[in-house]
Amino acid sequence: MMLVGDAEMDKMGVEAFEQVKKEQKLSKSSSANAYVTCVANAITSVLPENAGVWEVRVFEDETANAFALPGRKIGVHTGLLKVAKNQDQLATVIGHEVGHVIARHGAERVSNQIVVQGGAQMAAAMVGAAGNPASPLNGIALAALGLGAQGVVLKYSRTHESEADLLGLDYMARAGFDPRESIPLWQNMEAASEGARPPEFLSTHPSPATRIKDLQARIPQAAPLADQARAQGRRPRCR
Ligand SMILES: [Zn+2]
Repeated sequence: MMLVGDAEMDKMGVEAFEQVKKEQKLSKSSSANAYVTCVANAITSVLPENAGVWEVRVFEDETANAFALPGRKIGVHTGLLKVAKNQDQLATVIGHEVGHVIARHGAERVSNQIVVQGGAQMAAAMVGAAGNPASPLNGIALAALGLGAQGVVLKYSRTHESEADLLGLDYMARAGFDPRESIPLWQNMEAASEGARPPEFLSTHPSPATRIKDLQARIPQAAPLADQARAQGRRPRCR
């Protein structure tokens, strides 16, 4: 059930990203920005759709989190760079988040919220609320896009998670990253969840343990894609 189209979702994503940029501190580290942009560009350059330049921003935030939004936007928190220990692990998270966008999970969640909030006449209000902090629907619109803002948190469904995991694995492999690194990434995320500051990522995502098995089963399919990509010259060296 989709009550909002791609153009409206893109508008929501762009507006929401502008709001996040205003409200959160952008990282001034040129090395962090270059590293994240290198990984993100490698992923977005192999997408089946939404090809083109994505805006990539690094936010000075110790919580381990990343997000991607319709309208070609990617945000990464500096805290994630401590959990994702190398370019392949970072590519796992960015690939996963981009997978949510390409599979239109945000549109589904926004549609669900339109129904919950009172029907189809809410569609325009919901689209307008993204990026408008004064709107009472702002928090809900951001949360539907996958941003756990203003205390509103909507968890992704298990189905959406599995789909984003498998799409992400496919993208990272086609970009020439090592899909095997998705396993230690989620193990790191799990370990970090037991620390004093659990990754913010886990407030909107189910436990890493539940997904590792599915990824392991898929790696025999993904690894040859990565070999093929590298043979064709896709050898990202992001650092
Ligand atoms: Zn997810």
